Amino acid sequence: MEFKDLRELMVESQLIPRGIRDKRVLDAMRRVPRHLFVDDSMQHIAYDDMALPIGEGQTISQPYMVAVMTELLELHGKEKVLEIGTGSGYQAAVLAELAREVYTIERMPILAERAETKFQDLFYRNIHVRVGDGTLGWSEEAPFDRIIITAGSPAVPEPLIQQLSIDGILVIPVGSRYSQQLLRIRKTKDGTAEEYHTPCVFVPLIGTYGWTGDQ
Ligand code: SAM
Repeated sequence: MEFKDLRELMVESQLIPRGIRDKRVLDAMRRVPRHLFVDDSMQHIAYDDMALPIGEGQTISQPYMVAVMTELLELHGKEKVLEIGTGSGYQAAVLAELAREVYTIERMPILAERAETKFQDLFYRNIHVRVGDGTLGWSEEAPFDRIIITAGSPAVPEPLIQQLSIDGILVIPVGSRYSQQLLRIRKTKDGTAEEYHTPCVFVPLIGTYGWTGDQ
C-alpha cells in the first residue's frame, strides 16, 4: 500500500471513528507525510495507531493524540501558534497546514536540528524553531493566539498563560509523571476557563515550570 493510502486508512479507521470531526484537521492529517518524521526503519509502521520512538528517549505522538490536540485548538487559518516540544516536528507540520505561523521550542538541540531540516526539505516556511526551555515561552514573539504543549506537565506553566492572547486557547497534558489528562484553557479578559478532555500519556515536560531532572 502507498503512504497516501495508509494515511487515508489512518483517518478512516483511527480518527473519524473516535470522534475527530473538524474537516480541516482530518484533511491536514491526510496531507502531512508522517513517515518522513520517523526513522527510515520505522516508516512502514508510521501510520499505525501508536506513538513511536524518535531517539533521545523521546516520542512522536500517536496520530489520534495529534488530531485531538489540534482539534481542541480550533484553528481557522490566521493564528500565531506556539508549540512546546518540537520532537520529530510532525505536530508542528500539522499546525503549519492550519495556522498562519508556528513557533516551536525543543529542549534537545539534536531533535530541533533534525526537525528544522525536515521543515526545510518539505518547504514549511511558516515554522520557526528555537532550542531552549519552552516552559518559559517565547516572550519576544508573544502574544500567541494558540499554545500547545506536547509533553506532560505537573501544572500549567505560568509564563505560557501570560503569553496567551485574550480569546486565546492553550492545550496541555497535565497530571503525574506517568499519566495525564488533556486540559484546554480559554483566556478571556475576565480570566481563564478550564475543561478536561482525553486521558493521555506523554513524556515529561522538563524545565523551570515543568518537571525537574532528566527522565
Ligand atoms: N510534538 C512532537 C512530535 O510531533 O513529534 C512530540 C513531542 S514529544 C512527545 C515531547 C518533546 O518535548 C520531546 O522532544 C522533549 O525533548 C520535549 N521537551 C520536554 N521538555 C521540554 C521543554 N521544557 N521545552 C521544550 N521541549 C521540551
